[in-house]
Amino acid sequence: MTDPGAVVVVGASAAGLSVAETLRRDGFTGRVTVVGEEPGLPYDRPPLSKQILSGAWPAERARLRDADAIDGLRLDLRPGTRAVGVDASKRVVTFADGAGVSYHDLVIATGVRPRRLPDAVDVDGVYVLRTLADAQALRAELSNRPRLVVVGAGFLGAEVAAVAREAGADVTLVSDLAAPLADVLGAELADLLLDVHREHGVRVETGVRVAEVLAEDGRARGVRLADGRTLPADAVLVAIGSVPNVDWLAGSGIPVRDGVLCDVTCRAAPGVWAAGDVASWPHPAFGERIRLEHRTNAAEQGIAVARNILATRAGTPVSAFAPVPYIWSDQYDLTIQIYGRPRGGDQVCVVEGDPAGRALVALYGRDGVVRAAVGINMPRPLRAARALVAAAAPWDTAVATTLRGVSA
Ligand SMILES: Cc1cc2nc3c(=O)[nH]c(=O)nc-3n(C[C@H](O)[C@H](O)[C@H](O)COP(=O)(O)OP(=O)(O)OC[C@H]3O[C@@H](n4cnc5c(N)ncnc54)[C@H](O)[C@@H]3O)c2cc1C
Repeated sequence: MTDPGAVVVVGASAAGLSVAETLRRDGFTGRVTVVGEEPGLPYDRPPLSKQILSGAWPAERARLRDADAIDGLRLDLRPGTRAVGVDASKRVVTFADGAGVSYHDLVIATGVRPRRLPDAVDVDGVYVLRTLADAQALRAELSNRPRLVVVGAGFLGAEVAAVAREAGADVTLVSDLAAPLADVLGAELADLLLDVHREHGVRVETGVRVAEVLAEDGRARGVRLADGRTLPADAVLVAIGSVPNVDWLAGSGIPVRDGVLCDVTCRAAPGVWAAGDVASWPHPAFGERIRLEHRTNAAEQGIAVARNILATRAGTPVSAFAPVPYIWSDQYDLTIQIYGRPRGGDQVCVVEGDPAGRALVALYGRDGVVRAAVGINMPRPLRAARALVAAAAPWDTAVATTLRGVSA
């Protein structure tokens, strides 16, 4: 029988925990079941490619909350439990061991998993980085100072290249773009990153794909590039994007396509919601469906979903979820921060600082309005620029005002 009040959250990480905490903070006293495939207490992922990989932090420090704080939430927490299906008509989630749990509201917060190179799945020395176990395995490999090829120069690949280089590995970063993150940041800032990686001794192969991982006796020995060259390697990190964890929803009737398809309130079906990396929803300000793999979004969307669940029950209005997206990345001594969505911008203007000084704020515009602000080592001026993104300020006025502000 359906527990009249129960909320079941599948995915015990940043988004799922945010849902549970918000429900309790806002006074919900019913059952909250949080189901997570991974063992142990929920932990955070951004440190995995930074402090955990470098060894600066012990694993425990990546925990999202300590055991007392988790106890205080009075959750039915089920680590090491994989959800394998949903019967949306009976409102039951089933688990790999055949057990099930009923819900009044279900929150899908199952995140994403790394995309892999098909020929390199069971090859020793080939890594992906999504879990604590992945980070610990790669860290052990780095202690041998290997020749490491990093496939993909997005945020993850670029961060790992930086940490691995600082750990003494011989690093080659391979990107099919002209420079790391060129698709997100545009040419000028991506070229800055390219220079920084090369200055630190990373070889960066641009404009070329990895065609295959070369293996001998089940162990990676290098990669072959699409242009025919081979790069010898002792280890290969594959960082070529991710795939939403929605397979377990097959046959449930819950709509999925590149994530769980939600409405503007993050609701996917009656009593079914989604939050975090797995959730796709039409962002009211951008006029298009988006799915964000950003840590801050996981927390904010978890809060929004919990509040909309409680509002639905109380018969009060639900709210559209319309955040200003935010992501950061640490590479060497650079902290890159982004508000909004720079990708696809048709105008870019550095409004404070300059690339040569490795400290700047740049605005990105599209269709005559400010769509994003990117900062490198300039957190305070960037926070001021956030308001321009939030307001979708007219481009010409925003650039003129900001530049005047700088020179004043
Ligand atoms: C190495 C790394 C570095 C990052 N660095 C940054 C950064 O610097 N800045 C930034 O903004 N973002 C960063 N991110 C992204 C950020 O960590 C994610 O946006 C965030 O973790 C998303 O949280 P989530 O709860 O939606 O999903 P996840 O953290 O992916 O959690 C989903 C959980 O659901 C579990 N699960 C999946 N399927 C099932 C199932 N069927 N049953 C039960 N459980 C299941 C998974 O095992 C997982 O524990 C980084 C990510 C990684 C991997």
